[in-house]
Amino acid sequence: MSIALSLVEQLQRLAAEHQAVRITEVEVRCGVLRQVAPAALELAFTAATAETVAAGANLKVIEEGLVARCRACGTEFATEIDDYSCPTCQQADVEFVAGHDIVLTAVVCETPDR
Ligand SMILES: [Zn+2]
Repeated sequence: MSIALSLVEQLQRLAAEHQAVRITEVEVRCGVLRQVAPAALELAFTAATAETVAAGANLKVIEEGLVARCRACGTEFATEIDDYSCPTCQQADVEFVAGHDIVLTAVVCETPDR
């Protein structure tokens, strides 16, 4: 729910910047590490956007896979939770470069000019 609220905050800021009267489509990329169920996020989003400029907007959730970078050799590789071994050097000392964020990737809005 707090994720949905922070999305709404970002949307309201965007709408104000662009003088948008209505936001019709929102796309977010959702990292697997956040373990957010897209359906749950959609529900929370619908509730959080009620009475806002984004009410009724169509939310598209793109699930983002996990990408790790090996601290030993620098290899970046797509991985799964619980399997962090580097394919190049087999070490499991990694940091995650993708998969832990929820990012607003696209917004479609209507402005009074249209
Ligand atoms: Zn490595």
